[in-house]
Amino acid sequence: MAGESASSRHIGDPVQYVRGVGPKRAELLLRLGVRTVSDLLYLFPRKYHDRRDLIQIADARPGSHAMILGDVTKVNLHRRGRGRGVLRVTVRDESGLLDAVWFNQNYLARRFDAGDTLLLWGPVRAYNGLEITNPGFEHVGAEEHGGIALTDERSQLAPVYPMTEGLSQGQLRPIIRAALDDYASLVPEVVPESLRARYGMAPICEALSQAHFPESADAKEGAKRRLIYEEFLVFQTAVALRRQVTKTARGIAFKTSAEFDRRICELFPFELTRSQNTVLDEIKRDMRTPAPMNRLLQGDVGCGKTVVALYAMLLAAANKYQSAIMAPTEILAEQHHRTVGKMLRNSRVRLGLLTGSHGTPEVRGEVERGEADIVIGTHAVIPSGVSFHRLGLGVIDEQHKFGVIQRGRLRWKGHSPDVLVMTATPIPRTLALTLFGDLDVSVIDDFPPGRKPVLTKRIQPAGLGRAYEFIRQQVASGRQAYVVCPIIEQSEMFDLRSAIETAKELDENVFPEFNVGLLHGRMSTEQKERSMGAFGRGEMQIMVSTIVVEVGVDVPNATVMLVLHAERLGLAQLHQLRGRIGRGTEQATCLLCGAPKSEDAKRRLEVMCETTDGFTIAEEDLRLRGTGELFGTRQHGLPEVRIGDFTEDIELLERARDDSAGLVADDPKLEKPEHAPLRQRILELYRDRLSLIGIG
Ligand code: ADP
Ligand code: MG
Repeated sequence: MAGESASSRHIGDPVQYVRGVGPKRAELLLRLGVRTVSDLLYLFPRKYHDRRDLIQIADARPGSHAMILGDVTKVNLHRRGRGRGVLRVTVRDESGLLDAVWFNQNYLARRFDAGDTLLLWGPVRAYNGLEITNPGFEHVGAEEHGGIALTDERSQLAPVYPMTEGLSQGQLRPIIRAALDDYASLVPEVVPESLRARYGMAPICEALSQAHFPESADAKEGAKRRLIYEEFLVFQTAVALRRQVTKTARGIAFKTSAEFDRRICELFPFELTRSQNTVLDEIKRDMRTPAPMNRLLQGDVGCGKTVVALYAMLLAAANKYQSAIMAPTEILAEQHHRTVGKMLRNSRVRLGLLTGSHGTPEVRGEVERGEADIVIGTHAVIPSGVSFHRLGLGVIDEQHKFGVIQRGRLRWKGHSPDVLVMTATPIPRTLALTLFGDLDVSVIDDFPPGRKPVLTKRIQPAGLGRAYEFIRQQVASGRQAYVVCPIIEQSEMFDLRSAIETAKELDENVFPEFNVGLLHGRMSTEQKERSMGAFGRGEMQIMVSTIVVEVGVDVPNATVMLVLHAERLGLAQLHQLRGRIGRGTEQATCLLCGAPKSEDAKRRLEVMCETTDGFTIAEEDLRLRGTGELFGTRQHGLPEVRIGDFTEDIELLERARDDSAGLVADDPKLEKPEHAPLRQRILELYRDRLSLIGIG
């Protein structure tokens, strides 16, 4: 690129424009998600080698993790056929000899020759002398080949990048150096000058350079924090913009009154709990104001969220507005329909059910003419193509299955209805405020009176017979039971068969004296309804189901749940499942049957036995799985953060939230020139959601 002037360069250029990158390497880089120069600059090291961690071979201790530097003296591959075998590479330094051993990676043999200088890092064990097993490695020495400069006093940290086959650390490092040299100065300053000055932040090109090739551990930390802050600031500013759009939209000012409250409370066969009353006060306050409500209602499974939502919908009905509740599955929508129907037996409120199979033209007509007051359906059906006569309130149930975008779709003749989002995913409050910064948050933190925590026990598959006896006792004394056969996507057909077979086995051989039913996602709606109905009325005592039962099934008389293959399920799923029992005043028992093979699986089952608290479980889940998965970042429509971590870096996240609020208050459409790069970055990242953000 020698002939090209700096001014014609752009960080959006294909990565191939970087010195040292040809078509072949560009293809390899694509495997790491790198398409443009910018992607390459933001491909951060997974970790850094610290020169101070380098030890002499003689000091390596079995059972420890070591990094050593040595010359290859011997390469020995012992084949055991078809790619299997043991590769043993002997290296030496001044202090001694050590073997690096790789199992079943015969192809690596080609990479080593006697005389090569290798950096090796991995676990050390004693076996015929000292060995380091399946170590990470790189060729060192010739710096012109990109070997790390372990002798270079200027830097004690060498970056270690994510690897892809065919592209070594030694090849990647000079490429990134070249990108930094030629392009780093072109990276826009997204963080506005005023904020940079406030925190004494280095220019972005400096931060990028220190993140890749840090001069010191401090410099590395500083650069990382700066980059994380920038990433969060972009995200939080987008959220703040969105919040502003919803706040300024034209909504409905509902009337509330003691008379309405009295009439609604009469319909419930119980008193509301303290928490239910508190969150209802918050909801009513939102409903009275003309700006549309955007509220997240959080609370553990079974704490009474649906009842709160029903209250709000009845309030809308009292104001002559329609409301809609959207559930993630048909089964759940139908159940809402049944339970709400029961509670509203003695009222004039008219219900309509709209699901894939129930979306009859008649019901649609009633909704359009305003003859249905409360419309119950699935999120798949309601937001698309149903036009309401006078929609005042939309309730979205089980928010974690939806995605933020959905919320934007509920409209009625230019009015924005109030929106209440319900989730049983226990997200720590600060995190919720930040992730869903455009939502206000209400939390139900108590349970209806008389609930006893579910007793949870682990059982081995060999102990199934006793579990069945326990179920027999419970059912004989009038209770009901779930037997859950999890479905795992990859083997769905196989598992489905196992659920069907289990149901047959239990019905014919184990519990011939009881009615055993079956519920799974492939059944027709009618079949599902028949099954659920019979279980709900107590005509069927034992329900064998796949994990479809997870979502909100409500049969308070069911006090036992036996989960087969429990080791296959995640903590969040197990917690949701268990929430289906213990909904009445009887002591409930959950039996988790499984033979966990991994440590994580074992820990999950332990956690379930130790606690029933959703927050504790969520935190443990977070620890075991990391944020991305728990919140299903993609499904949420949240950006995937590249360096920041929504749970680790909460303090930076909060700072970014506060700063973005100030920024948007000062410049609501980001029109000031100093905000142009920030605006540009947001446009790039949220292209598909611009109408929700209100810029662009
Ligand atoms: P969630 O939607 O949070 O899972 P639900 O609203 O479905 O919880 O309530 C769970 C069960 O508790 C239902 O059977 C419901 O009728 C009952 N329930 C809700 N609120 C109360 C209350 N205040 N007192 C007694 N029972 C209640
Ligand atoms: Mg629910």
